[in-house]
Amino acid sequence: MPRKTQRVQAIVLDRTRLGEQDLICRLLAQDGTRLDVVAKGGRKPGSKVAARVDLFCESDLLVTQGRGSLAVIAESAIVHPHARLRGDYERTCAAGALAQVARHTSYEDAQDAYLYPILSRALTACEQATAVDASALDARLSLLVAAYVFKVLAHEGWLPVLDACVGCGEPNPSRFSAAAGGALCESCAAELPGAEPAPRVQLDWISYLLGATFDRLLEVDVDARTAMWLARMAHLWATTHLDVRLKAFEFFLGV
Ligand SMILES: [Zn+2]
Repeated sequence: MPRKTQRVQAIVLDRTRLGEQDLICRLLAQDGTRLDVVAKGGRKPGSKVAARVDLFCESDLLVTQGRGSLAVIAESAIVHPHARLRGDYERTCAAGALAQVARHTSYEDAQDAYLYPILSRALTACEQATAVDASALDARLSLLVAAYVFKVLAHEGWLPVLDACVGCGEPNPSRFSAAAGGALCESCAAELPGAEPAPRVQLDWISYLLGATFDRLLEVDVDARTAMWLARMAHLWATTHLDVRLKAFEFFLGV
């Protein structure tokens, strides 16, 4: 049987060890599908392939379906190393949260042209984020991660209702509930455990994240408390609708 070879541009979402020197890399391909490939020698210091399958790296790969179930990388070239995401603890944690959500919102056999460019842009934004101090950087990264999560989840069908109460349509909601699907008024919230207090200005922030470009998100003024709250709500939104635990995202939030 001839071996099937294909060329894919992909982002490395995560990696697991395989034997002494190899890695299994979980990738998001440019067509939005997810695939796992083996990087032979991927753990060998100084090996050619090692740098091309670094976490968050965007690489052009030639993969060959081997005798086993997983394809093997035959050739590789770096498209975008996203090196700054690996040299800085806060940025690494933010990128880890992004990659984890990307992993749980992409599927082996479902193409979706939206997923790759937005992850690539969000990773680049996490590299570009500048701030006067560590707490401002945390705030900026929280805003970027929250925006990515709400955008991707909305794209996949989980768009929060924000302008009126999800339960009764009351126009001045003051709570937010991932389980309910968005904003709630006080009386509907009283019947649902776990609805978070959410003043209008904070609900407006979620709407803003859904619509704003990453260029805007890198510039907009945001206070640290609001940014952290948005990241926390994005985490709640993702875990509730994807029905998974997101440990890297938890780690980023410091919970
Ligand atoms: Zn209501």
